[in-house]
Amino acid sequence: MLVLMNVNATDEQTQAVCKRVEELGYRPHPLPGATRCAIGITGNKGAVEADSLGQMPGVAEVIAVSKPYKLVSRDMKSDDTVLHFEGSDATVGGPELALMASRDQLFRAAEAVAKAGGRFLRGGAFKPRTSPYAFQGMAEEGLQIMAQAREAFGLLVVTEAICHESLALVDQYADMIQIGSRNMQNFALLKMAGRSKKPVLLKRGMAATLDEFLMAAEYVMSEGNYNVVLCERGIRTFTDHTRNTLDVGIVPVVKRLSHLPIIVDPSHAAGKRDNVAALARAGVAVGADGLIVEVHCDADLAFSDGAQSLYPDQFGAMVRDLRGIAQIVGRTMYEPAGVAVTN
Ligand code: PEP
Ligand code: MN
Repeated sequence: MLVLMNVNATDEQTQAVCKRVEELGYRPHPLPGATRCAIGITGNKGAVEADSLGQMPGVAEVIAVSKPYKLVSRDMKSDDTVLHFEGSDATVGGPELALMASRDQLFRAAEAVAKAGGRFLRGGAFKPRTSPYAFQGMAEEGLQIMAQAREAFGLLVVTEAICHESLALVDQYADMIQIGSRNMQNFALLKMAGRSKKPVLLKRGMAATLDEFLMAAEYVMSEGNYNVVLCERGIRTFTDHTRNTLDVGIVPVVKRLSHLPIIVDPSHAAGKRDNVAALARAGVAVGADGLIVEVHCDADLAFSDGAQSLYPDQFGAMVRDLRGIAQIVGRTMYEPAGVAVTN
């Protein structure tokens, strides 16, 4: 159920509706839009008494939302969600493409990422590895190094949490909490991320349907965290020529069904650095709100995913090529001050 307020409804009227929803035993989610506020209602098993809400001052309409994902859906909020970050003018979901890149020998990579126009530094301090014997990440020390790189290069930090303990730490250090593919349906973790004040980057499970993906985002939002960015990173199919099959087709479908931003991870889809730039171009062309790409100065020495990590000059070349495509699809790209941008 969704309560749509009038364009000129006052804050008091919106608050009164929220209070009434609570009295009825449900949870109100006020979602301010460009022109008017909508209040999502969750926690109801059947239909909410629409009449009592529909007659309250300032209410334009009470609409039933039939989709299982409600807060995520465009029915609930027709304009795009744009995420803002404290202490930065970077956004996700606005006209500017969000460029997130990583990591090891972190300072050198961070410098290259910042110079090429990246705004976010991605890196895994807690790694969900297939083998328990593989490098598990540097834990809190890794978070501290990323936080230092943030200070040095003005990048926002996005990094993965894999359990409650790591989420509590990531919440302290990072600007954005990543929930990885393997945890997309870890509902307890999603709920905990939903109670954080930090934006959440939710990667699609490698075998998740569209509905399952959106319902995972709904878990986060249902706890009151409305700043969710979706990420398509490739799914498991029968192909073995790439690590995963990048499902670019999901981007326009998500854009139609949801107001949330969606970015593309071409690195985990490609699995090999030679194919990353082409998939990145496809992602931007199909309407993604940004990209998350692995970059490494000594990729052959990387403890994790070196084969799919770009060298900094490849990352720079990729970003230059993307500018042309971004322009065609009506997006802007950040141009760092003092860097000559060709093309
Ligand atoms: C990652 O981003 O390093 C990662 C583990 O990705 P995914 O969850 O998509 O496999
Ligand atoms: Mn990885």
